Amino acid sequence: MSDCLFCKMVAGEITPDIVYETDSVLAFRDINPRAPTHVLVIPKKHIPTLADMTEDDTLLMGEIMQAAKKVAEMEGLADSGYRTVFNCKQDAGQEVYHIHLHVLGGRAMQWPPG
Ligand code: AMP
Ligand code: ZN
Repeated sequence: MSDCLFCKMVAGEITPDIVYETDSVLAFRDINPRAPTHVLVIPKKHIPTLADMTEDDTLLMGEIMQAAKKVAEMEGLADSGYRTVFNCKQDAGQEVYHIHLHVLGGRAMQWPPG
């Protein structure tokens, strides 16, 4: 997707602050952090929203979760805990239509989310 911000990061056209990378996923710091640690984990494959995921993406989605765990460990959040969020479409406030898992930590979170 040539007009997708996160695909441009995967292609190296935009350089985010990368914290972790595998053959299939990329994790980088959110440009507008909402917590002391705020990392986004994306698949290198363009999938617009969670609703567009198919059964073929099952392994890939697991790799995103594994990457989130790894990032949390690297950021020192494994013991204190952290929040993981997929925003899906307008009611959740999704702004970038390339699936991404927010990993937020370093402070106590509120529940329910706003
Ligand atoms: P969402 O609202 O779930 O779609 O989240 C999109 C996230 O992408 C927001 O938290 C933004 O701050 C973040 N974001 C937007 N542009 C960039 C960028 N160039 N580098 C890093 N994060 C970004
Ligand atoms: Zn994309």
